[in-house]
Amino acid sequence: MSAPLRIGFVMLHTSPLDVPGTKDAGGMNVVVRAQADALALAGHEVTIFTRRSDPATPHRTVLASGLAVVQIDAGPARLLAKGEHEAVMAQFGERLGEAVQQAPVDLLHAEHWFSGIAALPVARSAGIPLVQSYHSIAAPPESPLTDGERPESPGRLAGERRLAREADLVIAVSEAERRTVLDRLAGDPARVRVVPLGVDTELFHPCTEPHGAVEHDDADRGAGERPEAILVGRLHPLKGFDLAIEAVAALPPERRPSLRIVGAAPPDGDDYVRALHEAVARHGMAGTTLFEGALPREELAERLRRATVMLVPSHSETFGLVALEASASGVPVIARDTGGLREAVLDGETGLLVQGDDPQAWAAALSALLDDPQRIAELARRARPYALDHNWAASAERLLDTYRALLAPEAPRAPEASAHRG
Ligand code: UDP
Repeated sequence: MSAPLRIGFVMLHTSPLDVPGTKDAGGMNVVVRAQADALALAGHEVTIFTRRSDPATPHRTVLASGLAVVQIDAGPARLLAKGEHEAVMAQFGERLGEAVQQAPVDLLHAEHWFSGIAALPVARSAGIPLVQSYHSIAAPPESPLTDGERPESPGRLAGERRLAREADLVIAVSEAERRTVLDRLAGDPARVRVVPLGVDTELFHPCTEPHGAVEHDDADRGAGERPEAILVGRLHPLKGFDLAIEAVAALPPERRPSLRIVGAAPPDGDDYVRALHEAVARHGMAGTTLFEGALPREELAERLRRATVMLVPSHSETFGLVALEASASGVPVIARDTGGLREAVLDGETGLLVQGDDPQAWAAALSALLDDPQRIAELARRARPYALDHNWAASAERLLDTYRALLAPEAPRAPEASAHRG
């Protein structure tokens, strides 16, 4: 076996200690934690550097053998709205540089653009490679939500382009994201690699009881008598949960599934949450809709396997991890026909892809599926093997291969990096 690596993940704006589905924590947190766990288990030494957002968190938290989280003091030690992080990138970078000088790493892997811009000078002065993962790429402010997340702060578009140019390697989570890096950010095809995501198929597994036969605790909702559609994710407009509510509302009341919504609002997301609650009330769906807030992974997995169908109406996703988690749970997915969701859901095999924003089209797909238990069973049967093909150990192994290729003496590096090569 080749020598173990010292890997520094940089996660400026959210912490691996946060519960996914709360604050700004979501897929990125799940991915980093799962890959870091797998790398540490394989004998590598992994440190995740994050910004201190709570004065009480210890400087260093050991999560597992070979895996620690280190708090970097930059800006106020409290939660910041996403857009506020741009102002603390430089200070974070300085402190990160000090930390890396004291405890050297072989490479830095930055998650999201804030981390990349902070880590770039650190990697250059240490003479080590910078690997960049975007997780989401901003769409120009005037473009439709289907093009992706809006820049939360002014430097994002330029920052992301700079990283495509200057990072030594960009890791994309799907072919769709790879294309966005090439087309929108003018990335260099030789320095963009796809590392597929995984899913924990022990945590997310099918229900042993038949679908529809499960009585829910929520007796007042009459949920046990209805099929259940589940939505999972941060309550952000990009997720399109409003469309799912409209789609359910477009069905006659007696044929509507109950709706379970799992996830919480990001720090600046109260308006959207209010709008969702208002829509539910307006359509008379309060008795059959449950806003559960964010749930820990085990509880989420339990809810998921009991659902009849998952809806993923997101305007854009680089991949859409929740869809893979539904597949692992043997639950078919109805997702928007866009971006990485075309890879997370196999149309007609693990679920259905629906185009556009018309609630009627979504309602039609939903009711056709709910009316056809055999079809549900067939999709569920195909879903689990698809998920089993995506495991975190394989994902981490792919990541490691890309790290090793980058660390090889003859590896191509970003043009600017050659001068600093250690
Ligand atoms: N999640 C969770 N608890 C919640 C809501 C979401 O653990 O209450 C997890 C969910 O299971 C998934 C991640 O957060 O692993 C969301 O990832 P996805 O790629 O779907 O969306 P993103 O957050 O990256 O936009």
